[in-house]
Amino acid sequence: MYSPKATPAEARVDLAAIRHNVALLKEHAAGAELMGAVKADAYGHGLVPASKAVLEGGASRLGTAYIREALALREAGVTAPVLSWIITPGEPLDEALEADVELSAADEGLLDEIAAAARLTGRTARMHLEADTGMGRGGAPLAAWPGLLAKALALRAEGVVEIVGLWSHFACSDMPGHPSIELQIDAFDTALKMAEQAGAGGSHVIRHLANSAATVTLPRARYDMVRTGIAMYGLSPIPELGDLGFVPAMTLVARVALAKRVPEGSGVSYGHLYVTDRETTLGLVPLGYADGILRHATGRAEVLAGGRRRTVTGRVCMDQFMIDMGDDPLRAGDEVVLFGPGGEGEPTVQEWADTLGTITHEIVTRIGSRVPRVYKGWAT
Ligand SMILES: *Cc1c(COP(=O)(O)O)cnc(C)c1O
Repeated sequence: MYSPKATPAEARVDLAAIRHNVALLKEHAAGAELMGAVKADAYGHGLVPASKAVLEGGASRLGTAYIREALALREAGVTAPVLSWIITPGEPLDEALEADVELSAADEGLLDEIAAAARLTGRTARMHLEADTGMGRGGAPLAAWPGLLAKALALRAEGVVEIVGLWSHFACSDMPGHPSIELQIDAFDTALKMAEQAGAGGSHVIRHLANSAATVTLPRARYDMVRTGIAMYGLSPIPELGDLGFVPAMTLVARVALAKRVPEGSGVSYGHLYVTDRETTLGLVPLGYADGILRHATGRAEVLAGGRRRTVTGRVCMDQFMIDMGDDPLRAGDEVVLFGPGGEGEPTVQEWADTLGTITHEIVTRIGSRVPRVYKGWAT
């Protein structure tokens, strides 16, 4: 087995920060249940350790995009309720039901397929029905909602389906004041009223709409449960409002593989986009675009090395990029911090996202599987 004395690069994940962030979101939820969104390897933080911290922080449920992510949680011994919301025909629905994974449906065809799997396994499918209240992505359009409800009620009468939740998702909750927000809440209320009248309502049905941004800014959208993701990992759901008290959980570090002195006029990396204008010290950082360091970071993003910010110098390659240290000392093995909470002068994920013209979600979820996740702050 490969076990280096010190890893070339690692993503350090602070589980105590995740617990803190979830507890803070729980306060905002003001009595509503909290479902932690742990899709995409818990936004790159590591599915199982992060999920455990999310539950310890006060979440009562977990949510994943795909069934296979939910099954991975079950294989790891996580017993909390788990919902998967992107189900594609032909998936192993029987396995999902046997593993007690709750499923979302937005059309009658999928409900039929899930019901068939329920009959086959003798399990009751625990369903969350999704309405499209204006997101324009998943969810049943309101015109198709009565049909979906009727189908679910018929299957409930047969005993193969239980209606556990009714839900929808915001398109613009990270844009406070966007006119679609109130319209979506109104549409969700309409969808809930239709469900109530059809007989699919009741106090045991969990109504959920809010993501992280809505949880902290829209009390009216909290309903019975909120579904939070990005803020649990300490990244602001609305960057214009600042950090909102959330503490970034991930610090990405690498150790310099090679440090060398080069003369003035040296071209650096593919395409020679950068040429040294003096004799200088270059450092090779062993992380590249295959690890999620976007090629677009070339000449733009910064890292902390030797106590100062350095810009990514020359092209980012698949496995490595260079930094220019000038006359500052650098040795192979020295640690470089790409991003972290920001307290030691290192860039934050938010800075990387701003520099690269993207959102923090994309920066952390792209950190590749070659980069080991190393944990601190385990609950005692
Ligand atoms: C990812 C996701 C969330 C969490 O969103 P954040 O903005 O990260 O809080 C909530 N609901 C659904 C359906 C999602 O896909």
